[in-house]
Amino acid sequence: MADTDVTVAGGGIGGLALGIALRRAGIPVTVVERTAALRDAGAGLVLYPNALHALAEIDTSLAAAVRAAGHVPAAEEVRPIVDTGGAVVATDRVGELAARFGAPQVSLLRTALQSLLLRYAADAGVRLRRGIGVTGCADLGDEVAVALSDGGSTTATALIGADGLHSVVRRHLLGTEPPRYCGYTTLRGRSPAPPEFPHGFIVTADGLGLFAAPVGPGQLYWTAKVAAPAGVWPAKDPKEALADLLGLLAGWHPALVDVVRRTDPDAPAVVTDINDREPVADWSRGRVSLLGDAAHPMSPGAGQGAGMALEDAAVLGGMLARTEDVPEALRRYAGQRAPRTALVVNQSRHRDHVVRGERGEFSTHDQELTDLFGWRAEFGLPAE
Ligand SMILES: Cc1cc2nc3c(=O)[nH]c(=O)nc-3n(C[C@H](O)[C@H](O)[C@H](O)COP(=O)(O)OP(=O)(O)OC[C@H]3O[C@@H](n4cnc5c(N)ncnc54)[C@H](O)[C@@H]3O)c2cc1C
Repeated sequence: MADTDVTVAGGGIGGLALGIALRRAGIPVTVVERTAALRDAGAGLVLYPNALHALAEIDTSLAAAVRAAGHVPAAEEVRPIVDTGGAVVATDRVGELAARFGAPQVSLLRTALQSLLLRYAADAGVRLRRGIGVTGCADLGDEVAVALSDGGSTTATALIGADGLHSVVRRHLLGTEPPRYCGYTTLRGRSPAPPEFPHGFIVTADGLGLFAAPVGPGQLYWTAKVAAPAGVWPAKDPKEALADLLGLLAGWHPALVDVVRRTDPDAPAVVTDINDREPVADWSRGRVSLLGDAAHPMSPGAGQGAGMALEDAAVLGGMLARTEDVPEALRRYAGQRAPRTALVVNQSRHRDHVVRGERGEFSTHDQELTDLFGWRAEFGLPAE
């Protein structure tokens, strides 16, 4: 007899969303999260309409709460694409997305999203074990044995690895191949919005990009992308990294530079080298599967990593709710999700060309990608 029906390794965006989806279907679930406390990792993020549809599929009130916690663009709002001198060269019509795709783009602080997911998970009855990592697993046929970092173990009817880029569960399923470095690092922070760019901006120069979006009244989060060898920037102290970035921005329009210069000292810059992996066609084996970055890590080129994790959670939650046959549900889930997520991994890579210093058009509305924004969970559900 299993201790719980489903164990989820990792209480990040994807793991908590899956926990909520499973509880909504009445399935007992334990989320095992390695870190002891919520970290302010990475300032903000943008959720596109497909991510909002996935959240609504999981829990409509959660989707509404996410909108309320972030910035929802007005219908006429645009995000300017500017050159380094601050001149507007194009616009990203972010406000139009809601009418076109039935849900808006929402930009918000990661901590706001994580706090909401934690609260909804607790209210839904998700059992959360913090400060404990999953260290291994064995599929015993009728249940999975899960080894834990405190020396204990548990059994479950399914183990879902939502344990991120360096997933332990993935290693068990797919081997030890390391992720692929995408050729650039990112720095992230939040700061007051300058009057010139109240709704943020996008700047792409060869080998350097800067993006900013609102996360609340008068507040922006920003992400800088810097082409560099792996490991160089993460080795720096955050203050040193920020100073070096400001050095690279010398000569840029003062309002753009100010967004980085005025970074909230209580939430110092986060530095992350960007990695992805070659898409795989299947990531389920028996009673063990993967979700989010553990399954299909992607560069932030398309801003879709969390969106794909939320879609995974909506689809997998729906599949496990509809069948007693867990291995079959996991097999169909991966089969449904692999082609879509592979497309987004490759689209994200394609969009990295500007940061890599290669020539090419920059478009925020690639048709192939925007086609994904209208996603609805029923596309991912098995035929009855
Ligand atoms: C610079 C940057 C900008 C981004 N911008 C966007 C954006 O705008 N929009 C968007 O949709 N996405 C964006 N992303 C991608 C997004 O952050 C990720 O795709 C998303 O966080 C993946 O969620 P996840 O739950 O799969 O993994 P994670 O968020 O990595 O969570 C994994 C969790 O598992 C835990 N864990 C790890 N190992 C273990 C273990 N062995 N046992 C138990 N727990 C474990 C970790 O502590 C963590 O809490 C961005 C990423 C970067 C780097």
